Amino acid sequence: MDTADAASGDHSAGDITDGFHLLIDALKLNDVETIYGVPGIPITDLGRMMQEEGLRVLSFRHEQNAGNAAAIAGYLTKKPGVCLTVSAPGFLNGLTALAHATTNCWPMILISGSSEREVVDLMQGDYEEMDQLAIAKPLCKAAFRVLHAQDIGIAVARAVRAAVSGRPGGVYLDIPGALLGQVMDAVEGAQSLVKVIDPAPAQHPAPEAVKRALDVIKSAKRPLIILGKGAAYAQADDVVREFVEKSGIPYLPMSMAKGLLPDGHDQSAGAARSLALKESDVVIMVGARLNWLLSHGKGKQWGPAHSTRFVQIDIEPREMDSNVEIAAPLVGDIESCLSALTKAMGKNWKTPPAEWTDAVREKRDANVAKMAPSLQNNASPMNYAGALGAIKRIIDKNPETMFVNEGANTLDFARSMVDMHRPRKRLDVGTWGVMGVGMGTAIAAAVESDLPVLAVEGDSAFGFSGMEVETICRYNLPICIVVFNNNGIYRGTDVNRAGGEDPAPTVFVEGARYDKMMEAFGGVGAYATNPDELHQAVSDALKSGKPTLVNAVIDPAAGKESGNIGSLNPTSVVVKRMGGKVLEIIKQKASR
Ligand code: ADP
Ligand code: MG
Repeated sequence: MDTADAASGDHSAGDITDGFHLLIDALKLNDVETIYGVPGIPITDLGRMMQEEGLRVLSFRHEQNAGNAAAIAGYLTKKPGVCLTVSAPGFLNGLTALAHATTNCWPMILISGSSEREVVDLMQGDYEEMDQLAIAKPLCKAAFRVLHAQDIGIAVARAVRAAVSGRPGGVYLDIPGALLGQVMDAVEGAQSLVKVIDPAPAQHPAPEAVKRALDVIKSAKRPLIILGKGAAYAQADDVVREFVEKSGIPYLPMSMAKGLLPDGHDQSAGAARSLALKESDVVIMVGARLNWLLSHGKGKQWGPAHSTRFVQIDIEPREMDSNVEIAAPLVGDIESCLSALTKAMGKNWKTPPAEWTDAVREKRDANVAKMAPSLQNNASPMNYAGALGAIKRIIDKNPETMFVNEGANTLDFARSMVDMHRPRKRLDVGTWGVMGVGMGTAIAAAVESDLPVLAVEGDSAFGFSGMEVETICRYNLPICIVVFNNNGIYRGTDVNRAGGEDPAPTVFVEGARYDKMMEAFGGVGAYATNPDELHQAVSDALKSGKPTLVNAVIDPAAGKESGNIGSLNPTSVVVKRMGGKVLEIIKQKASR
């Protein structure tokens, strides 16, 4: 029986169906199980019917958070995460997350209701009038609009395939309200649905490209592997491990690739990052991009200009040479490429010179030993190392925990201080380094994995999506949020330089009690002033599985400007003049 027969099985001659049900059936046929959204005109009934028809419908308090949930669901499952929004403003709120998903190469579909086409196109002032398709197009991988009920099946199929094939990304699907009410013959409707066969086919690398890559790797004296979140996304964990271990080459995990191999792995160069980047002569990029997070593959983090040769494995051919020359591009999916490379390495593979691997290991161990005592400090109010030491011990003991992380210092320090032991457990701000993904990410992590979630959030970062604590309580999700509360952004000690009554732009209410927000909706609030209390509160939360928010009091003076990426803040120039004459030009960081 083909899928069309199967889908029409419930209908007999004379039955009718409508746009609502065709859309629901098309999504279900393509294995969509969960919808993240916010109800409203014109999709309120659609949400109700989706729930009635067996989809899990999770309603959020703001579309951006629902969208961020869908984006991370795509990353975790390799299937498009689906977000459902209302027209114009709701659509725009969801669009930020769709662009975020696209930037991160995660599959997602934003389905948005829209106002009446005839009125919108004549700009006659409809309710929430907006040409959403045109606005979405430049911000995602593909955008489609459906005008006729009989096209819903093909539109959903196109959206699914566009989202997951090749380099994954975000897809926009525009649903004018009137489409949902259109009716058609139920049997014909069922036959119009399309099940996408093999949506993300394996893409094998060319044999010449494999040979070229291997020749470059063999020529290396100080090779390094960089694992990115594309490698984590691929869910080819055994193949990645086999390649790394057989090669004997030290590896550096990008933030969300932490745990793909456990951070305690003997070949990890994680704590020797500076040395590894600067000294390596051949770098093998595995599902990672040479973007700002790797200072574009050049400059002072790296060795002398043009001294590093790159092998790059990526599913997207256009990624090659994006920033520097790639000596050996290997285009294909991670699993196929790494399998081919490992096979080609053969039985007599020579691991890199011990001089190099020992140097990396020694540097790493020395850095880990240097950091260890600070992770044990029990100071009150807490500094970052003390608080994160407590968090680290919890993750070490509960390695299956889904770990969500955003903030400035809270993000940067946690990335280096909290080890990951399993793949795809560290979920953070991704390629944009964007704040506000926290609660959407935490909710989807709980829903998609059925595992406990620990979200460690800067107080500023938490504020962007904090209202979703109500959502967490409503669905009774096993999420423990820890707010690192230092009364502000970077630090809580900044002053108004004009001496006025307004606080400085980076400062929040002193001594705020974020834990009370969780209590307001029936969850557990906790308050921690030292690492021992923090450890206890988080352990209790993970054990109970109850929605919990721990307000962790951090020393307002402990943070650094922009965490460890202060160099991204522009330098301001003050020009002192007298009469028409320039007396002095003073360059200063925009921030102190
Ligand atoms: P990170 O931030 O961890 O360095 P990036 O998001 O910059 O990671 O890079 C991920 C890369 O992985 C992207 O260039 C994307 O095209 C690639 N990618 C995603 N999925 C796959 C896959 N299955 N096979 C190969 N490459 C992939
Ligand atoms: Mg803060």
